[in-house]
Amino acid sequence: MSTLFVRTLREDPADAEVASHKLLVRGSYIRRVAPGIYTWLPLGLKVLRKLEAIVRQEMDAAGAQEVIFPALLPREPYEATNRWTEYGPTVFKLKDRKEADYLLAPTHEEMFTLLVKDLYSSYKDLPAVLYQIQTKYRDEARPRAGVIRGREFVMKDAYSFNIDDDGLDATYLTMRASYQKIFARLGLPIAICRAMSGAMGGSRSEEFLFPCEIGEDTFVRSPGGYTANTEAVTTPPVPEIDASQVPQSEAVDTPDASTIDTLVQVANDLRPRPGAPWQASDTLKNVVVTAVSPKGDRELIIIGLPGDRDVDMKRVEASLAPAEVDMATPEDLTAFPELVAGYIGPEVIGPQSERRDEDNPAVLRYLLDPHVARGSAWITGANKENTHVFNLVYGRDFEADGVIEAAEVREGDEAPDGSGPLEIARGIELGHIFELGRKYSAALDLKVLDHNGKSQIVTMGSYGLGVTRTLAALAEYNHDDAGLVWPEEIAPATVQILVTGKGQELFDKAEELAGDLEAAGIEVIVDDRQKVSAGVKFKDFELLGVPYGIVVGRGLAEGKVELRSRRSGEREEVAVDEAVARFAEFRTR
Ligand code: ATP
Ligand code: MG
Repeated sequence: MSTLFVRTLREDPADAEVASHKLLVRGSYIRRVAPGIYTWLPLGLKVLRKLEAIVRQEMDAAGAQEVIFPALLPREPYEATNRWTEYGPTVFKLKDRKEADYLLAPTHEEMFTLLVKDLYSSYKDLPAVLYQIQTKYRDEARPRAGVIRGREFVMKDAYSFNIDDDGLDATYLTMRASYQKIFARLGLPIAICRAMSGAMGGSRSEEFLFPCEIGEDTFVRSPGGYTANTEAVTTPPVPEIDASQVPQSEAVDTPDASTIDTLVQVANDLRPRPGAPWQASDTLKNVVVTAVSPKGDRELIIIGLPGDRDVDMKRVEASLAPAEVDMATPEDLTAFPELVAGYIGPEVIGPQSERRDEDNPAVLRYLLDPHVARGSAWITGANKENTHVFNLVYGRDFEADGVIEAAEVREGDEAPDGSGPLEIARGIELGHIFELGRKYSAALDLKVLDHNGKSQIVTMGSYGLGVTRTLAALAEYNHDDAGLVWPEEIAPATVQILVTGKGQELFDKAEELAGDLEAAGIEVIVDDRQKVSAGVKFKDFELLGVPYGIVVGRGLAEGKVELRSRRSGEREEVAVDEAVARFAEFRTR
């Protein structure tokens, strides 16, 4: 510790909100350079390398082979797959001295695909799985929580190449199993959640979420074992309702009913429904959003959903990816004079509406959340100030352009597979695996000859794991009020020897003990700082999170040192001559 490049801090950094971020900075594991960009210091690098080693071992064991691509890449391959534009403002772009376009890769599908295309030509070469542990760049809109959401971060990304879909399924399961092994070795609890494949295309897709309050992802689980990212939750189909008894729709003057609550009140005052007072779930609200494609095309979309549910913008965004979605502004509405803000109703939107005239080129789509059943009757906007229409029936009085999963998922909603009511939790996405299928291989023309000598497009899978983010998750999971508490497998050292006294013999003994432990294959940090108090040394031991301490202090006069467990707080005095052997026992408790 007297020479180690470390300066522990007693104060939390001002920009840090989550424990892992605070403690990694305070323990001198990382230092901030710019938003979402961090330097790794000696202790941090030790942990990072150990984590990488575990990931590497499990990838190798699964038969994947390591390569490494540059981060700095030319535009062309990303142009071929349209991702130069589709990836949007998240890509860091730059030019070389000849004005040629380059990017700092946010992900490497194109490069892996081209590499295999470059060298392989036969089904006999397949299956193949390649991976790298490499630095990625994403200009995240909101870098957050230290290295949890960085703009430069380390990812392990693997890609599989198979001749057919069965092969892909098998490889997918192998990779899934190796992810389970990695997280089991790290001791991190994980919820494997159904996911949206989003901008990447493809079909089968799962995320490995570490359940944790500070996570940005929300996921659901049911008693019967359904787990999914809320973005990927589908609404169980709602049966069609018989609307033959529903009276004709009727426009009603509804003053002072600009919110769902006041509308319900006014409805019950003006048109009471005997036996079943109107509720928010009887109203249909129509929310206007804009979807901006990566090319910059702006489309207006109106989403219809029951008034007792809010729109979940993340679910909408996942459905409309790669477009970016926002609430519409009053200016957005000016192109559509038929839309009366606050009173928008389905009669003037949807496929039946007049704006489908050739002379009105502005684009507007009406999409319904699947909670809206065919045949259901609604109170909704009448496209006129202070007016609502009652008994407007979907399928009888209006139609829509399509369906969109837009409504928030609620605690207690039924799981789509009938496995019971959903519980909602938060988590951090640590890994994401999915079957890409032929999106990249088709775009980049990766074909091999099959056993009949026919040229076939290869099918691919993609398997990402955030290494630096997982390190932060480990810090999040393994800490207490005093500091970090690393699991042995990734701790920067196994033992920290604390010299808590003045005599030179204490320091000599500590060095000797360190030598013995190291000879036994145990990694040691010696706190040999001369002018630092025992109190500070204990505090630093707790902050840094090395799993075990050995205190060489006053007891040495009687030939004793003290073993400590950082996690359990357990202590034991042992004879200094037996310290190595006794530590081996202590450690296994
Ligand atoms: P997110 O939804 O959190 O933005 P993503 O879905 O864009 O992540 P992928 O493209 O699936 O991420 O990348 C694979 C893995 O890389 C993620 O599961 C995550 O662990 C990690 N990762 C992605 N973005 C970041 C980031 N900005 N900082 C740190 N790790 C990241
Ligand atoms: Mg993902």
